[in-house]
Amino acid sequence: MDIRYDLHCHSTASDGSLSPTVLVERAHQMGVDVLALTDHDATHGLVEAGVAAKVQGLDLVTGIEVSVTWGSQTIHIVGLFIDPENIELQQGLERLQEFRRWRAQEIGLRLEKKRVAGAYEGAKEFCGGQIMSRTHFAHYLVKAGYAPDIRTVFKKYLVRGKPGYVPGNWAGLEEALGWIHNAGGVAVIAHPARYQISATRLRELIKEFKEYGGLGMEVVSGSHSRDNIQHMSRLAVKFGLHASSGSDFHGPSNVYTELGRLSAVPEANTPIWHSDAWQQRAEQFGIRR
Ligand code: AMP
Ligand code: MN
Ligand code: MN
Ligand code: MN
Repeated sequence: MDIRYDLHCHSTASDGSLSPTVLVERAHQMGVDVLALTDHDATHGLVEAGVAAKVQGLDLVTGIEVSVTWGSQTIHIVGLFIDPENIELQQGLERLQEFRRWRAQEIGLRLEKKRVAGAYEGAKEFCGGQIMSRTHFAHYLVKAGYAPDIRTVFKKYLVRGKPGYVPGNWAGLEEALGWIHNAGGVAVIAHPARYQISATRLRELIKEFKEYGGLGMEVVSGSHSRDNIQHMSRLAVKFGLHASSGSDFHGPSNVYTELGRLSAVPEANTPIWHSDAWQQRAEQFGIRR
């Protein structure tokens, strides 16, 4: 039997709507064998997820999705097999979490100027604790009736050029890979087809990422179309990156895909779980290979 991998998802430790335990239970029900929990800029869901994974008999990969500012773009880099106790990583993440707290207040102020009241407090109620995300604002704004659904709220209020948008000041690309590698992990470009950048810039991103020791890119993502997968498959081959696969699941009623419901990695690609770096870490962490 093939092993089913889902190497990208979120819990209430960031902007997902399920607790780590419920998320892992659901992954197990969906037939996932190896799951990476990759919360935004935070690792505090991993302990609970690890306990649940033991109970369910599922293998958990300790993951992270680091927010990166690259030029004027926000890029997401997934780290897999990171040691959550690594000091350098945690110091870096603390800085990003601090920026998130500041940005949340700023988003609140900017929305207030546009007569959207109480958004900061409202978002805070949807937020588990450490990580304040635009998703939490989106949930509040829908609840308060400013838009019918999450997608519309982002379009109207939270993306670049809209009243609640605050430019990112995240980690540098080299810095983020440094944190991941220092913590023993491997780095993967998250959902590369989703960035609003030219083909040339995307190639530059991949080149730079490789220079800093990056290992893979998500060829298969819950947010990629069939065409996206084909396109990313070719780029991964061309630049010698391994292919990763992850749903980017945020919760049962979210816009992204269900856990474990992913297309196969195209034949042309080498899945990241076939890489030496993966094999070595899988053995170390005692997970299926
Ligand atoms: P943040 O990292 O706080 O800026 O928030 C980014 C998160 O917002 C992403 O990880 C997605 O979960 C969510 N998001 C971004 N754009 C959209 C969108 N157009 N529709 C729904 N969710 C989105
Ligand atoms: Mn998210
Ligand atoms: Mn992302
Ligand atoms: Mn994600």
